[in-house]
Amino acid sequence: MVKKMNAAVMYGPNDIRYEEVDRPICPEGGFVLKVKAIGLCGSDIRNLTTDSRKGNYPYIYGHEVVGEVCEVYPEVENYKVGQMIYVYPEAHCLKCENCRSGHNEQCTEVEHYTDRPGGFADYIAYTKKRVDRGATYVLPDGVDPILATLAEPMSSTYACVENINVTLGDTVAIIGAGPIGIFLSILSKMRGAEKVILIDINQARLDMASKFDIDYLINSSEKDPVEEVLKLTNSIGANKVISANPSTIAQQQSILMAKKSGIVVFFGGVPKGALTEIDTNIIHYNGLWIYGHYGANSIQVQKAFELAISKRFPAREIITHVLPLRDINEAIELTKKGEALKVVLLPSED
Ligand SMILES: [Zn+2]
Ligand SMILES: [Zn+2]
Repeated sequence: MVKKMNAAVMYGPNDIRYEEVDRPICPEGGFVLKVKAIGLCGSDIRNLTTDSRKGNYPYIYGHEVVGEVCEVYPEVENYKVGQMIYVYPEAHCLKCENCRSGHNEQCTEVEHYTDRPGGFADYIAYTKKRVDRGATYVLPDGVDPILATLAEPMSSTYACVENINVTLGDTVAIIGAGPIGIFLSILSKMRGAEKVILIDINQARLDMASKFDIDYLINSSEKDPVEEVLKLTNSIGANKVISANPSTIAQQQSILMAKKSGIVVFFGGVPKGALTEIDTNIIHYNGLWIYGHYGANSIQVQKAFELAISKRFPAREIITHVLPLRDINEAIELTKKGEALKVVLLPSED
């Protein structure tokens, strides 16, 4: 008889039902995790509230997974029942040209997490491919699984500030005060940035950001953020500007607030098909370097995990809400309104 479990199943945009489904069976050469804690990501919210799978439902999302190994296929040696692990959502092949050149985030043979059911459930199964590729990390004793879920959202921000070498003396302007903007701000300060300016249109998010070590918070629905950044930098502009939000307007602004020879990063994706109108002469004459950013390479994934669970990182302040998985719809609302910074969901105990 197939065992049952609870899961938050998506039936369509904004139609997420917490219900009983079949518990996954252990794939040949794979393993099964009992999900202990799972983060709710901005991308989950976008996926759960739009027709992200083009009618291909029901589907279980969830990719910021920390869980306990509860079943291992007989010959598998590197996983043991009882281990608590964090699983990075993408399993890079480590063999393709992009992987070998250090760009695992562009792996051409990646097993993407949406290929299989995700972790908004009591249990999640992983295949032999995952066992072969790894990208799973054992939690040291005493590390709280709730805090370890931050390793995933940390990874891409860690990679971003490392790739653009945020360093001593830098002024960094970040547009978007969601969890990603907060991570970018904290990591920029840790790397020695002199001034971090965090910008958002939502005052509730800025209020939440105020408890972190961030030098300036700007509400761009009240003040022109470009003028404000210029004011704070003696009309010079920021060394590094990161647009970490889905707005094309913010991308336009980001170019205008960068210092000559500065760096601008388009971190957040904009809605599919949206085009950003920019005066490329500003890029040309000011000698700007414009980067796109997505994901992290496999070493950055590992380092981000180690930092996320270390005492140096204020994980407890970032996770504002811990809710049972059955309250996922409420979690989405709280995050959308800016009342919650980061919600971690807990599946049922049995
Ligand atoms: Zn995520
Ligand atoms: Zn690859």
